Amino acid sequence: MAIRPILIHPDPRLKKVCPPVEAVDDEVRRVADDMLETMYAAPGIGLAAPQVGVLRRIFVMDCNRSDAGKEPVICINPEIVATGAERVKTEEGCLSIPEVYDEVERFETLTLRFLDRDGAVVERPLTGQWSICAQHELDHLDGRLFIDYLGAVRRTMITIRMKKLKREKARG
Ligand SMILES: [Zn+2]
Repeated sequence: MAIRPILIHPDPRLKKVCPPVEAVDDEVRRVADDMLETMYAAPGIGLAAPQVGVLRRIFVMDCNRSDAGKEPVICINPEIVATGAERVKTEEGCLSIPEVYDEVERFETLTLRFLDRDGAVVERPLTGQWSICAQHELDHLDGRLFIDYLGAVRRTMITIRMKKLKREKARG
């Protein structure tokens, strides 16, 4: 496994609609395992493939905050098959938009269908942070960032801040 560099907004690769994975093979597993390692190292609770420059429908997450241990979840070709009626507004952040947090409204519960690391079809009900995280990551696969839900002025300010951050990083 290896830690991969995380793309910082703005980047054209973060705006792309990613095509599905055709077969869950060793290459896909390698990408997913690297993504988990990258996410834990960041640290973060979710990471989507385009954030490491891989334009495929894969994301990983682990919203387990207890001391019971890690609960890594690999979602390949994920899709929401049902949602609850309730919506919740919570503060979100993104590894591609460091140190920026803002409120976004999401479904509180949903059922996610995806292929797991072995290519098996899984249908999993998600609630609370797991549900919110899955919606945030799924958005990434469609080229959508959480700041796209904010007002245009706020979004422009954040983008300017990220461009400055990238320039500073490039200078080293
Ligand atoms: Zn994100």
